[in-house]
Amino acid sequence: MFLRKVEIVGFKSFAKKTTLNFFPKASSFSKNSRSEITAIVGPNGSGKSNIADALRWVLGEQSLKNLRGKKAEDIIFAGSGKKTRLGSAQVSIFLDNRQKKIPLDFEEVVISRKVYRSGESEYLINGSRVRLLDVLDLLAKTGISQRSYCIVNQGMADRALNATPVERRMIIEEAAGVKEFQLKKERSERKLKATKNNLKQVVSLLAEIEPHLKSLERQSKKAARREQFQQRLEEKQHQLLGFLWRELAQQVQQFQQGKSVLARELMITQREIDNLRRKL
Ligand code: ATP
Repeated sequence: MFLRKVEIVGFKSFAKKTTLNFFPKASSFSKNSRSEITAIVGPNGSGKSNIADALRWVLGEQSLKNLRGKKAEDIIFAGSGKKTRLGSAQVSIFLDNRQKKIPLDFEEVVISRKVYRSGESEYLINGSRVRLLDVLDLLAKTGISQRSYCIVNQGMADRALNATPVERRMIIEEAAGVKEFQLKKERSERKLKATKNNLKQVVSLLAEIEPHLKSLERQSKKAARREQFQQRLEEKQHQLLGFLWRELAQQVQQFQQGKSVLARELMITQREIDNLRRKL
């Protein structure tokens, strides 16, 4: 995989858009093509290291110290001479992906990072906004990263030579492409830790709830028994009402029978009175 081009605008000393073409002619590009840029030379303070910083930054560097700055704003062009300061900085790297080292369906992958003075920043992959995590994942697959051997700063060669076995192991692991898996492992470990914490919380919640559970169980049993009693009470009430209804109906029938007997007797007595009146 080859770095075709780097575009820098507003980053540190690069006020104007600056393009560094490493392998500019995509059509004549082949594995044997040679970079058009071998070295960048210039007097002290002309901005050579700023290019390395730009590369480091676009690859996701978060440490201001590694970018030789103190505040986030230090990486945005601060103005010089007649040129006024700028409001944002952007760096893009153009990677040739015809060998599909990056698992994206693009022949050229452009990774960009932009930052504004307000502190707002964004990462883009081929123009689409992505998270830092996506950029790091993608780069880990290629073996490139802001901390890897691919950018050797002033003093870094010394540091590599004097590195402790642990640091040396890190350099070799980066080169061997283990970084992707290490990142995944770290993420999984973080998730596992979070899950363990959640589990602890659940266990302590359970311990808190358990004493209440017994009283809740008692209450629920009481409620169930109350329900049973209520049902039985309603059944008995129905039976009682039925009984009273039947009793009452019987009494009404009896009264009606008595009434018709009395009515007949009254009629007979009335006739007798009428007869007696007539005889009188
Ligand atoms: P050396 O060879 O001494 O290491 P160099 O060529 O690597 O120098 P750099 O360190 O890349 O130079 O660049 C330093 C220059 O960048 C300084 O002149 C500094 O004023 C300028 N510079 C750094 N940050 C900014 C900024 N935010 N705005 C404008 N200019 C900046």
